[in-house]
Amino acid sequence: MDQTTATQASKPPPTVGDRHVDPHSYPDGIAFLDGQYLPMSQAKVSVLDWGFLHSDATYDTVHVWNGRFFRLDLHLDRFFRGLEKLRMTIPFDRDDVADILHNCVALSGHRAAYVEMLCTRGASPSFSRDPRQAINRFMAFAVPFGSVANAEQLQRGLRVAISDKVRIPPASVDPSIKNYHWLDLVRGLYDAYDRGAETALILDFNGNVAEGPGFNVFRVKDGKLSTPAIGVLPGITRRTVFDLCAEEGLVAVAADVSVAALKAADEVFVTSTAGGIMPVTEIDGAPIADGKVGSVTSRLMALYWQKHDDPVWSSQVSYP
Ligand code: PLP
Repeated sequence: MDQTTATQASKPPPTVGDRHVDPHSYPDGIAFLDGQYLPMSQAKVSVLDWGFLHSDATYDTVHVWNGRFFRLDLHLDRFFRGLEKLRMTIPFDRDDVADILHNCVALSGHRAAYVEMLCTRGASPSFSRDPRQAINRFMAFAVPFGSVANAEQLQRGLRVAISDKVRIPPASVDPSIKNYHWLDLVRGLYDAYDRGAETALILDFNGNVAEGPGFNVFRVKDGKLSTPAIGVLPGITRRTVFDLCAEEGLVAVAADVSVAALKAADEVFVTSTAGGIMPVTEIDGAPIADGKVGSVTSRLMALYWQKHDDPVWSSQVSYP
């Protein structure tokens, strides 16, 4: 045994909290990489890829519920717009990408899945610093569905803290390009954990509420809905809330939401492909209104999940 192996062998296994974990374990799923469908454990990327070294990547996440994609077209639109804005090219068109995503889900067998398509700047064979020399890399994968809020939190509402961290401004990174610039959001999350909350909202550059790690936020006041307009990802679930409100005759606008206005709301909820519409019943340790999940939120949550069976909003996966 050489020195390195001996050192490795003497180390205790890694832990998360008080749990021992296998660092080589992966969620059960299927990835598409370099023209092949692979188990997640075999989908590996070069450490020289700019996606990894510089967060130079764009991605989109769509979910499958009861064996059906939800609003796949909107996710494909956003992904292809992001590629264009970042001047990335992939050897697949929209229909090809839709087929690849279908295949990942079908091969995984998951009927409830979190499905991601992504493109990194890639690496150049000479490790050039010129992004134009890099060969862009498209990848996709399907793993089990995951949610920002667990079953208990969906029932009683999330406990959120508002961090003073500021979301990267749109003049620096265009938020309509779905991206991995998350250091601000992750710092916000740690602020929230330190304050006993379950997740975080962070601010825009004017001090208004922006968004959280993987979700947009809505305020309901006197029956009207508002959600931050600037410095946020235009989420597909956020868009879905606007569409549901239009169907239901509810007024919903994109406008500045101050911290004080959010705390004084009748209802608050957050939205994400990872979990849908999720209630918030506590902010910075104080209840929102009576601290219970509100009626507008509950109604929108029910409608949102009903739409998952509607062929206008969803499409069937063909499993082998
Ligand atoms: N905001 C950020 C920063 C996100 O990363 C996400 C999703 O990952 C969202 C909002 C919600 O977007 P969507 O509803 O399209 O999942």
